[in-house]
Amino acid sequence: MESLETLLEKAEVAHGHLCAGQILGVRMALLGLKQLEIEDPRGADRKRLVTYVEIDRCATDAIALVTGCRLGKRTLKFRDWGKMAATFVDLATSRGVRVVALESSRELARHKYPEIESKSQQQMKAYRELSDSDLFEFDWVKVDVDPAELPGQRGERFLCPRCGEGVNFGRFIERDGELLCLACAQPEVRYWRPDR
Ligand SMILES: [Zn+2]
Ligand SMILES: [Zn+2]
Repeated sequence: MESLETLLEKAEVAHGHLCAGQILGVRMALLGLKQLEIEDPRGADRKRLVTYVEIDRCATDAIALVTGCRLGKRTLKFRDWGKMAATFVDLATSRGVRVVALESSRELARHKYPEIESKSQQQMKAYRELSDSDLFEFDWVKVDVDPAELPGQRGERFLCPRCGEGVNFGRFIERDGELLCLACAQPEVRYWRPDR
């Protein structure tokens, strides 16, 4: 595994800036991978890992960078729970570890560097140095990754009779005897509406 410093340099390039969230995200991913004994997530072990992130903030980019898990590879799953937490799942062993950043870490950062005025500078310095147990809590968990969400799973391709759009991965459901895409079947949960 690359060093914290090397990963932070890469995270800064990928994310556009270095921030406390990047440092927390890199360390969170390193801790998860260490527990799973996954050494080379972007190389030899790249088919083993699926990561669930529970927030879409700076740390999320850092987690994706360290793990190599990406939306486009179906290995990064987003659960919008607003929590600084992520679960790392080893598909090879079916083990999972959920890591959550401790609320108390902010307080620790303040106590460690009271002379630094900027809260983000305080956190950036402290989050490099504090121990894993000062920053995080983790638990072993079981995750039943939906086979339809696995990387490499192709599923059926389907053409929605109502909107005419193609749908991958079997993402369609039956409504009144008709098979429809999710947007046509459940207009009430659609995130968009026609603008006309
Ligand atoms: Zn950031
Ligand atoms: Zn449709």
